[in-house]
Amino acid sequence: MAVIVQKYGGTSVGSLDRIANVARRVAARKDQGNDIVVVVSAMAGETDRLIALAKEIFPIPNDRELDVLISTGEQVSIALLAMTLERIGLKAKSYCGWQLPITTDSAFGAARVTNINTNRISEDLGNGYIVIIAGFQGVNDHGEITTLGRGGSDTSAVAVAAGLKADVCEIFTDVDGVYTTDPNIVPEARKIKTIAYEEMLEMASLGAKVLYIRAVEFAMRHKVPLIVRSSFNDNEGTLVTEESSDMEKESVRAVTCSTKEAKITFMGIPDVPGTASQLFMALAESSVVVDTIIQNSSEEGKTDISFTLPQSDLEKGLEICRGVREILGADRLSGSKDMAKVSIIGLGMRSHTGVASTMFAALAREGINIEMISTSEIKISCVIKRKYAELAVRVLHDVFELEKPL
Ligand code: ADP
Ligand code: ASP
Ligand code: MG
Repeated sequence: MAVIVQKYGGTSVGSLDRIANVARRVAARKDQGNDIVVVVSAMAGETDRLIALAKEIFPIPNDRELDVLISTGEQVSIALLAMTLERIGLKAKSYCGWQLPITTDSAFGAARVTNINTNRISEDLGNGYIVIIAGFQGVNDHGEITTLGRGGSDTSAVAVAAGLKADVCEIFTDVDGVYTTDPNIVPEARKIKTIAYEEMLEMASLGAKVLYIRAVEFAMRHKVPLIVRSSFNDNEGTLVTEESSDMEKESVRAVTCSTKEAKITFMGIPDVPGTASQLFMALAESSVVVDTIIQNSSEEGKTDISFTLPQSDLEKGLEICRGVREILGADRLSGSKDMAKVSIIGLGMRSHTGVASTMFAALAREGINIEMISTSEIKISCVIKRKYAELAVRVLHDVFELEKPL
């Protein structure tokens, strides 16, 4: 008998009809003799609705109370799914994160799972129940409700699968797998059969929202096999697993884009030891996550520094930079919020040459200016103006011939 963890996202549980569809799929897997644990998200749009309500009261809601509020979306879905399963004659029991408990640290809004107590799950499975668990939520050591970050139900599912040593963790969503790029932007995108954890990790961190980055991290660390599939059909999905040699055959396997980027530039800042350290220390102390950094070579004792940060942190970042400018001095400080980062990803980049030049030439042909570049062993990212984001994705998908069947 296999233990299977299934996760259904917001669109898949977006209405009572869709919950009934999920219940039928769960029942079918149970009928095959498997033990089933289901992790669900809030109904589509619910988390956004709750956040908007909180922001009507005050633009920066109290983070503890915000987690109490937004965790309720998942509580609704677990109960509705349990009732629907009972209605079709199956034994089902639902749990919020705190009831198990799923323990996390205290970073409200972005908490990390530290432990999962699987006792109640195992006991219920032993008694023939389908166990349904609220995604996205946990509880810290002081009994406070926490949430795991937007998209965090994926993490809950992987964490539960790891805790139970499940045979597989199936992520059901509104697309039938991981594609060479977002199929909703490029219809010619091709489904990838098997992808390495490392590639998926880069994709998730660079804008492919199909899997949440921390879920991939967790799966990689605990070697949980992940399958991404559609809840609306029975197509074969994508397996996320350990790398194998055939994955290196192509230089580029996927193109991603993140459109929520901003950029801050210091012109003419003193080029003396400690400048970068003071600047980035001040940003880190205020929890501003800095991404790509560029520093120009020095001219007459002054230099330019640019860096990207999440668009939502631009105002906070600029505020801190104004303070740093007062101390260190700088000719000019500017911020730009309409940036995007387009990336190409593939294990094959380790062994193929000419990938970067092909990427830069393709963007140049379309008149897209590259403002920053960053690379790792298996990815190249370019920061560009947001208005070119979709065009850049199409052009790169095309130039690396990702639509072609293998
Ligand atoms: P869920 O609510 O089920 O968690 P998400 O909206 O978080 O679903 O993720 C699914 C979406 O991810 C798809 O609708 C698709 O638009 C987007 N996506 C982005 N990049 C990719 C990709 N490379 N492959 C598949 N889907 C992608
Ligand atoms: N409901 C949460 C969100 O919208 C978690 C999730 O769907 O994964 O971000
Ligand atoms: Mg998601």
